[in-house]
Amino acid sequence: MRHTLDRDLTADLKTSAEFVVIGSGAGGGVVAQVLAAAGRDVILLEAGPWYEGSDYSNDFWDSMKQLYWDKGLRAMRGRSMIPTMQARCVGGTTTVNSSICFRLPDYVYREWHDPFGLTEYTAEQLEPSFDRTGAFTNIHPTDRELLGRFDLLFESGFAKLGYGSKPIQRNVRGCNGCGLCNQGCPFDAHMGTDRTYVPSAVEHGCRLYANSPVERVLVRGDQVHGVSGTVRDATSGKPKHRFAITAKVVILAGGSMANPVIWKNSGLPDPHGVVGRHLTNHPGIGITSVFPGCTDIGISVPQGFESSDLRSERMMFETLGMPPEVAAVRMPGWGGTYKDLMSRYHNMAMWGVMVRARGEGYVAKGLGSSPKIVYHLHDDDLRLMARALRLITEVAFEAGAEYVIPGVRGVPKVLRTLKEADALLSHPLHPRDMMMIGNHPLGTMRMGDDPSISVVDANAEAHLVKNLHVMDGSIFPTNLGVNPMWSIMAFADYNANKLLTRY
Ligand SMILES: Cc1cc2nc3c(=O)[nH]c(=O)nc-3n(C[C@H](O)[C@H](O)[C@H](O)COP(=O)(O)OP(=O)(O)OC[C@H]3O[C@@H](n4cnc5c(N)ncnc54)[C@H](O)[C@@H]3O)c2cc1C
Ligand code: SF4
Repeated sequence: MRHTLDRDLTADLKTSAEFVVIGSGAGGGVVAQVLAAAGRDVILLEAGPWYEGSDYSNDFWDSMKQLYWDKGLRAMRGRSMIPTMQARCVGGTTTVNSSICFRLPDYVYREWHDPFGLTEYTAEQLEPSFDRTGAFTNIHPTDRELLGRFDLLFESGFAKLGYGSKPIQRNVRGCNGCGLCNQGCPFDAHMGTDRTYVPSAVEHGCRLYANSPVERVLVRGDQVHGVSGTVRDATSGKPKHRFAITAKVVILAGGSMANPVIWKNSGLPDPHGVVGRHLTNHPGIGITSVFPGCTDIGISVPQGFESSDLRSERMMFETLGMPPEVAAVRMPGWGGTYKDLMSRYHNMAMWGVMVRARGEGYVAKGLGSSPKIVYHLHDDDLRLMARALRLITEVAFEAGAEYVIPGVRGVPKVLRTLKEADALLSHPLHPRDMMMIGNHPLGTMRMGDDPSISVVDANAEAHLVKNLHVMDGSIFPTNLGVNPMWSIMAFADYNANKLLTRY
């Protein structure tokens, strides 16, 4: 594959392009390809390196350092610390995610019609973009032979309680179920934008600069003029060269955490204080159950099964693979108790709930290069989580679990009966009591027709800066309730195609 790495640049870069795309993830990767495939002059700038499958480490903590912003240690701060991870590499977070793909549910589009005025967006209107991006990244239901026993136990437990469940749709080709997705796929089976849209964009003439974080979006009057930044050494991160690129159109696709910071660093207008606000997320939490017999944890697709039956009640249930390093952090107790629990690693199943939370937060400039991220769960979200955890415990016992390790402070460390699980509902929970994660930050540059509550309009163009568009997960005015990658890709495809007629 041909791309320009930092080592290819031996001097400062001054150039121009018709379109500059910032960020090569779910949004930016798709936009760059759509424009380049139409024969347009595109530069794609990515802060992180472009890795091959053989570059990935199978050591969990090494991968965190290699692939993620802030070494994978980012957290949203509020009533508790909720870890949130974003990748820093070509393909963005699509390079490391679990490949779970959902179309955007109908009711979410409807919520955006009022008060955001986004009546153009309907399931019918977006369907061709979902179809195109689905075909391009090979989205299909997980093959049953790749599932682990912990997926099948999930299926049988939910079925016994009368709920449906099914194999998750994933964007993979030739997946062997090794379970390493979140550390980068060593088999090049994971069809993130790093293996699909970005190589195709480059083949169509897009100039890709990896290791090239944009620092400022440049504006003349009320119109975008270009971008500037620094080319960094891929290994040490040290600055090597400066770049300045003039462009007719700039597309910001650095993700929900980066975009507000780039905006503020560039001194772009924000008279209503909307930029960076309204951060939404899907906080998730998993429960570990222990079963007789091997469950295949850690040796099958990390997330192969889901139950959407309670989606309208803002809960999505999914299976979760868990490498031993993560199990080691999650197990309660110490000494002999801890050792006993860990000795059952191969009998564990981890099932999680992802909540369409009412909580909101904001992203602002932080110390150094890390953003300041604040997020507050709503009390309703906590109640919902407690209910969901009680349900997962019930599912586990229905599926034949010996015991359940809830990992919630204030309730017994090990639950051996369903009655004991009632403590999840009666205990007055605090966000600090639960080990949550929120890897779907959305909404910090939201879309709408009213500049006092949104940053970009229905064409994803900034209300206050002409020819500056935002096309990634940060534009969604509410959270989605489903894993967001496919929606981000489809909206990027839809809005990038509009650019072709507009410019
Ligand atoms: C571990 C994990 C598992 C996940 N699993 C799933 C899943 O299975 N299914 C799903 O739907 N979602 C999943 N997600 C979430 C999903 O991957 C993201 O929501 C999605 O990739 C976001 O797309 P984006 O384009 O907004 O941002 P990203 O994909 O994160 O892309 C942003 C890109 O911009 C780059 N960038 C940032 N700042 C700059 C700058 N200044 N200059 C140049 N480039 C910059 C970043 O390095 C990055 O490459 C997961 C997330 C994580 C962390
Ligand atoms: S399970 Fe393994 S082979 Fe399949 S996509 Fe994930 S890392 Fe690649």
